[in-house]
Amino acid sequence: MADAVPLPGQRPRSNLWLESRYRKLRRGLPQTVFFCPRCKGDRRRKRDCPDCQGFGKLTRESVQELIGRRVVPLMQAKEGRFHGAGREDIDVLMLGRGRPFVFEVVGARNPDVDLEALRRDIEARSEGQIELQPFVRVGRARVVYWKETHFDKVYRAEVAVAAPPSPDALAAALAFPGTILQRTPQRVSHRRADLERPRQLKVLALTPMADGAYELRVVCQHGTYVKEWISGDEERTQPSLATLLGTACKCRQLDVEEILTDDVDGPRLEPPAAPAEA
Ligand SMILES: [Zn+2]
Repeated sequence: MADAVPLPGQRPRSNLWLESRYRKLRRGLPQTVFFCPRCKGDRRRKRDCPDCQGFGKLTRESVQELIGRRVVPLMQAKEGRFHGAGREDIDVLMLGRGRPFVFEVVGARNPDVDLEALRRDIEARSEGQIELQPFVRVGRARVVYWKETHFDKVYRAEVAVAAPPSPDALAAALAFPGTILQRTPQRVSHRRADLERPRQLKVLALTPMADGAYELRVVCQHGTYVKEWISGDEERTQPSLATLLGTACKCRQLDVEEILTDDVDGPRLEPPAAPAEA
């Protein structure tokens, strides 16, 4: 490796891990680099790629790039790696306290920077697309922690209905805390095993909107496909909001309102278990 030994006067390289949480305030922004599915961003293949016109990716930026393009040059690093605690769909906002992540800085020659100034710079240059909690220096183990620990989430959705639900159906949906059975959605079945999973879910609110749609708030177990729970995904999710309301439903907008990490207050699916008798 050419740079294993620093040249005279050159600082050695080190790796570091910065933990934070991001709020994503613009739809259409992916969490990580959205490589073109055809050419995969490959340097040679992208040149004549008809899908991305040589760009190699399908969006101009991502949460990862908004952070990395400030961090990597400032720290004189080789590259940055983004490790999120899960991810939301590209068209879904990430609100509340934000989604935890660790940004791994690889080969930094200048790691001792003002992290608060860096955070403010990233936010300002994102032009309102993302907001970040203060960075905290952590060890590599936090990457594993966020990858392996799962949290319930609160979602807010706008639901279009084919016909107005009856008052009884609305009451039944509102009273729904329970278990749903969800088969892997059709839209991801090409890259995920086709399984049927039980998931806990509780409706918090279902409020009529001015245009006849409904605003839904729901807390659900990690790994729940909320869009498919709303529509039923052609009976692959049972029961769905559509079956509870007795009319076809479609999610027209979705936000993650909160990720219920241990340090965040919010509506929990189950009350904490009572301490065992000694
Ligand atoms: Zn391409």
